[in-house]
Amino acid sequence: MATDTTQQSLSDWDNRHFLHPWEGMEDLGKNSRTFITGGQGIYVTTTDGQRLIDGPGGMWCVQLGYGNAEIAEAIAQQAKELGYFSPFSNTSPVSARLAHELARRAPGDLNHVFFTTGGSTAVDTALRFIHFRNNLLDKPRKKVVITRRKAYHGSTYLSASVSDTERTRVWFDQDHENVCFLPDVNPVRRRAGVSVEAFLNEKVADLENAILTLGADRVAAFIAEPILASGGVIVPPEGYHKRCLEVCRRHDVLYISDEVVTGFGRLGHWFASEPEFDIVPDIIICAKGLTCGYVPMGACIISDRLIADISGDKSKGAVFSGGFTYSGHPVAAAAALKTIEIFERDGILEHVRNVTPLFAERLATLGKLPIVNSTRGKGLVGCVECGDNSLAIDQKVGAQIDRRCQELGLILRPIVNMCVFSPPLIITADEINKMFDILERGIRIASDDLM
Ligand code: PLP
Repeated sequence: MATDTTQQSLSDWDNRHFLHPWEGMEDLGKNSRTFITGGQGIYVTTTDGQRLIDGPGGMWCVQLGYGNAEIAEAIAQQAKELGYFSPFSNTSPVSARLAHELARRAPGDLNHVFFTTGGSTAVDTALRFIHFRNNLLDKPRKKVVITRRKAYHGSTYLSASVSDTERTRVWFDQDHENVCFLPDVNPVRRRAGVSVEAFLNEKVADLENAILTLGADRVAAFIAEPILASGGVIVPPEGYHKRCLEVCRRHDVLYISDEVVTGFGRLGHWFASEPEFDIVPDIIICAKGLTCGYVPMGACIISDRLIADISGDKSKGAVFSGGFTYSGHPVAAAAALKTIEIFERDGILEHVRNVTPLFAERLATLGKLPIVNSTRGKGLVGCVECGDNSLAIDQKVGAQIDRRCQELGLILRPIVNMCVFSPPLIITADEINKMFDILERGIRIASDDLM
């Protein structure tokens, strides 16, 4: 094994051998990525000793921050006790306990937990489960999934097929035979003269019209993130999800709420669907914050109602043959149980609700800066959108702001002309102020650069 770990060797190895997610092929092998070597609380450290606030909280996942010794200890303890077992025929105490704890916290009758390796595989599982269920119910034509422009549901073939990132659309094949896209639900983008209420009516009608056009006998499900996260933190108008659920119920269409980002405290609740959006969906997807990002795990939580009519005597011989080697992995389950325990002991959900007004107030004031055209967010997730998407210069402005902020001590997540941030949920009021002070300075410097 190579032991030469000088910075230059690491950079060379990274460039030559590590094909990163969203790798830019034109610059392959020529990148100079920052090496992150450690972290504590909301901060990460780089090889050259810089200490940076992690604005995106990893990838919206490191809810309890870095260097959490209790989670690390729980992982180590479980690995020593039982590092793995096959979930296909046996089970383990930690995974059974975690399934129980998730069922207790999920809304309504969502009591059946299928564990996966992350968010994409949980979305895949939900879609495959729905197909499986409709086959069993003798509704083989009912397979279409309705999704939305700008949605992101994952990177496996099926979850990417119900996603709408420009890169995927342009450079990959997607399976759209049983997929239907609704237009953008961003109220900021509504036509001039259209009220938010009229826009809401239009968006709900988009869903109902799609179902009627396709035929309810063909439409199996509607999948939606409560807030479109990677699509640019798009918060649909108030009442949108509730009215969409009503449309789904009218036409026997299932509602899948993708809470990979909004779950596990990001909006101040275990799951945001019911307390924030007044819906009890049929399936909830969660991942990321579930294990605080320390080890991979996802979950697809299915309602009793959906299971009831396809189990027992009427389904003789039927097997839901979906499953992963690592479904319900004991080490990941131990990390998730410890995350839940710390959330409760330290009042993390209450803390998020307490600091949210400050976060929202500071976010709103960024809207007054010269190149910013809108700010939006909910809970501890925010987005600053700059300029006009159609200007060539604006395509780089997110990266430009991120670069300037990093020089000042803050990492952001640039998405085209936007910067998105979702810090660890343990962030204090002082740290929120510090983060926004840097962000404001970074945006001012970037705007001077561009003028
Ligand atoms: N769903 C949503 C809403 C996401 O934001 C993501 C990832 O960012 C996924 C699904 C996919 O999760 P994973 O990357 O764990 O597969």
